Amino acid sequence: MITKSTHLNRLLAAGLVKKFAAMGITTCGQLLEHFPFRYQKKGELAPIGRLQEGLEATVYAKVLSAQMQSARSGRKSLLKVKITDGASIMGLTFFAAHPRALSGHERRLLPGVTGFFSGKVSVYAGSYQLNYPSYVLDNDEQFASFDHKRPIPVYHVAGKLKNEQVIESVKLILGSIDPAEYGEIIEGDGNFFDVIRALHQPQTDADWQNGSRKMAEFEALVTQTVLAQNRVERQHQRAPKMVDKAAEEKFIKSLPFALTDGQSQAISQISHDLGGTVPMSRLIQGDVGSGKTVVALAAMALSWGNDYQAALLAPTEILAEQHFASIAAYFAPLGVQPLLLTASQGAATKRQTLATLASGKAAIVVGTHALLSDTVQLPRLGVVVIDEQHRFGVEQRDLLRQKSELCPHLLVTTATPIPRTLAMSVFGDLEITTIRDMPKGRKPVVTHLVPTAKANWVARIWQRARTEIDDGGRVFVVCPVIDSEDDLASVAATTKMLQREEALVGINIAQLHGRMQSVEKDTVMRNFAAGQTPILVSTTVIEVGVDVPAATMMVILEADRFGLSQLHQLRGRIGRGDKPGVCLAVTSARPGTEAWDRLAAFAATTDGFVLAQKDLEIRDFGNVLGSSQSGVATDLKFLDVLADEELIRAARRRATEIVAADPQLREHPGLQNAIASYFTDDQTEFIDKT
Ligand code: ADP
Ligand code: MG
Repeated sequence: MITKSTHLNRLLAAGLVKKFAAMGITTCGQLLEHFPFRYQKKGELAPIGRLQEGLEATVYAKVLSAQMQSARSGRKSLLKVKITDGASIMGLTFFAAHPRALSGHERRLLPGVTGFFSGKVSVYAGSYQLNYPSYVLDNDEQFASFDHKRPIPVYHVAGKLKNEQVIESVKLILGSIDPAEYGEIIEGDGNFFDVIRALHQPQTDADWQNGSRKMAEFEALVTQTVLAQNRVERQHQRAPKMVDKAAEEKFIKSLPFALTDGQSQAISQISHDLGGTVPMSRLIQGDVGSGKTVVALAAMALSWGNDYQAALLAPTEILAEQHFASIAAYFAPLGVQPLLLTASQGAATKRQTLATLASGKAAIVVGTHALLSDTVQLPRLGVVVIDEQHRFGVEQRDLLRQKSELCPHLLVTTATPIPRTLAMSVFGDLEITTIRDMPKGRKPVVTHLVPTAKANWVARIWQRARTEIDDGGRVFVVCPVIDSEDDLASVAATTKMLQREEALVGINIAQLHGRMQSVEKDTVMRNFAAGQTPILVSTTVIEVGVDVPAATMMVILEADRFGLSQLHQLRGRIGRGDKPGVCLAVTSARPGTEAWDRLAAFAATTDGFVLAQKDLEIRDFGNVLGSSQSGVATDLKFLDVLADEELIRAARRRATEIVAADPQLREHPGLQNAIASYFTDDQTEFIDKT
């Protein structure tokens, strides 16, 4: 019997098996789950006279002549065929390295035979032509069933594997495998085998469209069931209960500013959650500069006041150090001295910090990935704060949570808004708090596009930089690469160029990039903040969180090489003080191109949420969030977590009901199997504990 786990070599020729193996496909089940990524049509059947250049088309025609030629370029062979539909004449061309490879076509395409010819229409020397068309001749077996309207599945193939070979192999397996291998997922939902067949062998567009829909529903249900099971499980975990609000209140009173409404609401929501024993998992999203960090610090103050340990995880050393410095200042009125833990610290300092943390004493610790290391023990960890979440994977959060004897509360901040559906499906069950307002008195940042084609505009950039610096400002110059030889927009080349720039004579220029030692980076940042080197040429290391209130200008070189969210993050580094900021996005993209439009959108709004939405529309959400987050997402092949909101909600309701009645899924073996085969253990953990 042929099952999902039957090896392909039971059914396919050895050569073919090898080609599939190169793509990681070795069993029948794997091949059947290798779905087409799009469908093609032979094109509308049209008379030659009505063909349109660039479109797929099929013509029914008679071969007039076929001639083998040598192409002018090199030793390539060419088979030129002329066909007619009685009214007009057009050409077909077949190329190959050897005439031998074309002899099959030559033998079949004899003058006088008729058939369907399909391909993309081009124009060559004034007449229509199809390059390497597919065709079915009148005497061919497939002629009777040839249907130019039937969608043809197109698969991802690698190496020498051809699309037709995948189609044929899939056909063979669909005909041999026991359909019971793909039973009902849920009673009444229909047989899964039919869905798979509809995707591989659709007769109409509606077939594969319905199939895709079913698959999306299936993915949503499976994901949501795992999440619902986790929710039930989480009800049994106990998190530290933090009821003493004194330290938190003291912290808020000590702030040199009044909280915005958004901040106050977020803080009271968090403090309510932390007062309970159900572990909180909350995402705070708010635009760059909306004051999310302060909200997170209030939670850490609450933790401190209740004698627990709180850890803030930052994505880079620069950020960790900056947080550490500002947290030390914020907490000074409370008499709290935070701890810092990074990879580049001296051994002695580190050892002492580790000992303090391991003792379980109340503490506030700021760190990078170093905090995740095995040597770190945090037995009374009560709150985990992850700043700018998109740089950390879900597993890393878990590592930190596992360090505690308790199940700590989790708070994640992000300036990249995550749609509710995404939070629901990929991130598990993060509750979302949105800060919509900005601290009062913020000065707007104006953004202009500067096309490199306009030399005089580019020259004015540096004159403007001079003016800003003379007025006490600082200027960021952001480059897409560090030191590529042939890239004028590299940090190295740009620094050299600016050192020769007339408008900047007498001004010190510094560099910053990820390959520098952290001590060095720290010094550079400090000198920049203090104004000794008021121009900083850097890579995107400054993207997240860096806080220099005197910075009033940012020049982004080759701006089209950055994503929208990234540009917005970058721009958030200026206009943080009491002066307005100016951001210049320099680009060689031309108006009318997609790249230009994207930059125009960036220049048109400073609303990070609007931009993030645009970014999500343009890009795969997995990219927006960083590759480390997309572990589950990449396996959701049919579900579109942005567009399928209704479907996800429905699946969530259904999954919640199913799990409430039958937490172990004993009555739902189909679903249980689906979960088991759909997610590897790693992946269930992925969506598991957010
Ligand atoms: P985010 O993390 O959301 O980008 P931060 O918490 O770093 O923002 O705050 C940005 C800057 O604004 C910091 O210098 C912070 O001290 C300041 N800030 C935060 N909240 C307020 C407020 N309510 N009023 C005035 N300034 C604030
Ligand atoms: Mg922040």
